[in-house]
Amino acid sequence: MSSNAEVASILYEIAEILTIKNDRFRSRAYQQAAQRITSLTEDVKKIRENGTLEDIPGIGKSISATIIEILDYGQSTILEELKESLPKGVQELMELEGIGPRIAMKFVTELKIVNIDQLEQAAKEGKIRDLRGFGEKKEANILQSIKDYKNRQTRFLLGSILPVVDEMVLWMKGSSSVNKIEVAGSFRRKKETVGDLDLLVASNNVDESSERFISMPPIERIVSHGPTRSTVYLKGHLQVDCRIIKPEAYGAALQYFTGSKEHNVKLRTIGVKLGYKLNEYGLFNRENDELVASETEEEIYNLLGMDWIPPELRENRGEIEAALERRLPHLIGYNEVKGDLHLHTNWSDGTASIFEMVEAAKSYGLKYIAICDHSKSLAIAHGLDEDRLSKQGKEIDKINKKLDDFKVLKGIECDIKADGNLDFPKSVLKDLDFVVASIHSGFKNDEKTMTERIISAIHNDHVSTIGHPTGRIIQKRSPYQLNLEKVMEAAAQQKVGLEINGFPDRLDLDDISTRKAKELGVKLSIGSDAHAPSQINFLKLGISVARRGWLEYNDVINTKF
Ligand SMILES: [Zn+2]
Ligand SMILES: [Zn+2]
Repeated sequence: MSSNAEVASILYEIAEILTIKNDRFRSRAYQQAAQRITSLTEDVKKIRENGTLEDIPGIGKSISATIIEILDYGQSTILEELKESLPKGVQELMELEGIGPRIAMKFVTELKIVNIDQLEQAAKEGKIRDLRGFGEKKEANILQSIKDYKNRQTRFLLGSILPVVDEMVLWMKGSSSVNKIEVAGSFRRKKETVGDLDLLVASNNVDESSERFISMPPIERIVSHGPTRSTVYLKGHLQVDCRIIKPEAYGAALQYFTGSKEHNVKLRTIGVKLGYKLNEYGLFNRENDELVASETEEEIYNLLGMDWIPPELRENRGEIEAALERRLPHLIGYNEVKGDLHLHTNWSDGTASIFEMVEAAKSYGLKYIAICDHSKSLAIAHGLDEDRLSKQGKEIDKINKKLDDFKVLKGIECDIKADGNLDFPKSVLKDLDFVVASIHSGFKNDEKTMTERIISAIHNDHVSTIGHPTGRIIQKRSPYQLNLEKVMEAAAQQKVGLEINGFPDRLDLDDISTRKAKELGVKLSIGSDAHAPSQINFLKLGISVARRGWLEYNDVINTKF
């Protein structure tokens, strides 16, 4: 969409809502302005730069301000406010691609439809095609829009998104117009699942950056394309919203679009008390609307009287109070974990040899790994018996002799059996460097049984950490029935670690439990649970959880060695 078309389409939308609201005079003004813009031969952006917008017949002070806002930010405050004032249901229906205010109102008034589910039902029953101005084709389009909308609601595992984001950022950086780039939203906060991606680009050449974005290779479909804002679907129906921003307003946009909503609401309240207004365009003086800060997040947080807050903490879970009192945690850094304390090789169900895992770990900058293949009870994963474990130990000795500045630890992921005993006797475990004790069976037992089972493993002198302590699989399996607080108390008392398992669909412990564990004095181990060399990268996801759980360097076992 050219900027003329983008501006006109928003002006038309404003006019349309004004008609619905019976404000015929203003509606006509916006409609005429939209027509003028559409019929211009010159780029409206150029006219704006020349400062001659108001020379266009029918475009006065207020519409000109709206046009400038659209050109700068891709949206309009007037439109947003008008949408808010519509009858129940209209705004939700307008979330659908191709449904404007007039059509949404028609559904609400004529069919008494007030949400998307009801609209889907009506379309499936063939009730839309009979409305005046509709037909089978339009009805099918509506169903397609609903399908797109629902796909947008599905969430993706953070781990599955990482490579996509890397590829996207690399592509955008290939354009010299791109000054800064970041994916904001829950991705930046490193939530375990992500709905869609909010890409923010600071650019000195908006057109070039915008063109670069929509020519990105993995795009499946372009939903909308404007100079400052575009929306596309990537393969697998991942939606990416790209906003192109001037460098001087980048910090404000980054702050706003990173969220969370709860964090931002709290921040705005603090701003109001200090006489400020905070929005996606900047921090403004409330009295005279003068811009006070917008270029960096740091300036904004500092003017609000607090330290800059790392994105992983922005959930309104006490981080704002801590930032105001200058007592935010010194979060563990992504490069501060020196070893991986849980990975598998082809001795059990991994795909690679010990040596290949060593090579991969080195390429990720690690200094050691603990080989933790499965134990014999887990026959399905070719668990090791005493004999093979001892053979593996000899091979590790051989490999260690060849390595300098890197060490392979002898470990095991030892099953915790139903009775709480471990799969190996103490005489075997005592020769190992690191023992991860995990549950892989009997998930359905009651809380008391599961809690006692884990606590009895914690009381085994040779256990180093409890692997994936709750057993949850994101979007697939709930945690075991477990009194986690009792488990944490026992772990703290016995000086046994609890694991943050970095595998994308585990992330177990999760952020909230991790923080609780820290408060109860437990040390955490982070393991990738890699079953292939490239999966050592999952260590990063574990560190994200650690950061969301407010962990610092000293809270994590594998920062040391
Ligand atoms: Zn396991
Ligand atoms: Zn494992």
